[in-house]
Amino acid sequence: MALLELQNLSCGYGEMLAVSNLSFTLAEGEILALLGPNGAGKTSTILTIMGHVQVKSGALLIDGRDATRLPALKRTEFGLALVPEGRRLFSDLTVSENLTVGGYSRSRNDEKRNLTRVFDLFPRLFERRTQLAASLSGGEQQMLAIGRALMSMPRLLLVDELSLGLMPKMVDLCLDALKRLNKEGLAILLVEQNTSRALDVADQVCVLASGRSVFTGPAEAARKDVDLLHSYTGAA
Ligand code: ATP
Repeated sequence: MALLELQNLSCGYGEMLAVSNLSFTLAEGEILALLGPNGAGKTSTILTIMGHVQVKSGALLIDGRDATRLPALKRTEFGLALVPEGRRLFSDLTVSENLTVGGYSRSRNDEKRNLTRVFDLFPRLFERRTQLAASLSGGEQQMLAIGRALMSMPRLLLVDELSLGLMPKMVDLCLDALKRLNKEGLAILLVEQNTSRALDVADQVCVLASGRSVFTGPAEAARKDVDLLHSYTGAA
């Protein structure tokens, strides 16, 4: 059974539709890359999955159960966690405090275990655990945003524009961490403008253009026709 399924989902703001009739499934343990140019509707899609943008029609299923109208808070209980575009850390809290906030829904014992897991994944965060989030480099902030999301022990991590503004080395480090988490069983929905990097790690691909899906299928097929994919995503 799919962990997440979108069935002809349309969403938007007021009268305006940001995404129309989008369908895809994400199985347990898979990575799905959601690609497309600026304004294609990628962020709107993940914010809808998290329960922050209004569904206009269609359905959203988590574990085969209808979650279309489920409040955002409940979606965390269902195992969804977001790494938002621009990180959105609490800049005047320390690294450790940001992580603790991410684990608010968990017990103290879980918190300790999850902190150890995050620090094991990102030793740099352990070294900087008493530092304010604002004083971290861009790459370290992205690690912290991933770490904070992991503190709620998600089964599906939604990551928005991980590579934005980061040095290639930092993108590698963060993607390697996501790959490791995926090997441990975490499903990931990766929103990216960097098509090539996303294709390196994805199992499934969905390409959006002007709010509509123009390609949905295995990453293997997309890797074989990268030129076609780039024509959809607007990449060089
Ligand atoms: P980007 O990579 O630039 O973030 P995107 O693919 O994530 O692009 P969205 O941010 O989802 O695209 O935007 C899709 C459409 O929805 C755009 O036309 C955008 O202007 C519109 N939109 C996004 N957020 C809002 C909002 N809060 N209110 C009204 N319209 C919005």
